[in-house]
Amino acid sequence: MENFYLCPYCRGHLRVGDNIVFKIRNTLREKGLLLLHPEVGNFSSVVHPHFHFEDGERIDFFCPICMSSLDAALDQNLVQVLMVDSEGREQEVYFSRIAGEESTLQVSNEELMSTGMHSHRYKHFILLNENVSMA
Ligand SMILES: [Zn+2]
Repeated sequence: MENFYLCPYCRGHLRVGDNIVFKIRNTLREKGLLLLHPEVGNFSSVVHPHFHFEDGERIDFFCPICMSSLDAALDQNLVQVLMVDSEGREQEVYFSRIAGEESTLQVSNEELMSTGMHSHRYKHFILLNENVSMA
């Protein structure tokens, strides 16, 4: 069984096939949909070619089901979702919403795992705000 991704607010399924689906908004307040690869550490994403953003632009992420903002309370540059693995274990997954940044942080069982070349920018926020230690 593959990983589920859930909205932390409505617990709706964000994963459809091999994509995690988000509603997004750029700094010009243009709206669109973004597909993210469900494998942690794979930072490929797909948007409609008419949806433009620049490297370094902060993109707003929303649940496409309940429209809640998925901004993480911990840091304005992070988005938060829930991931349920094949054994039913739930963990918080944070990833950067800055275009071009590769950073994913997984928090489970008071452990922190990070993936991506920019994740060092955010580890300290998680460590400060949650009772976790490095895996
Ligand atoms: Zn939702």
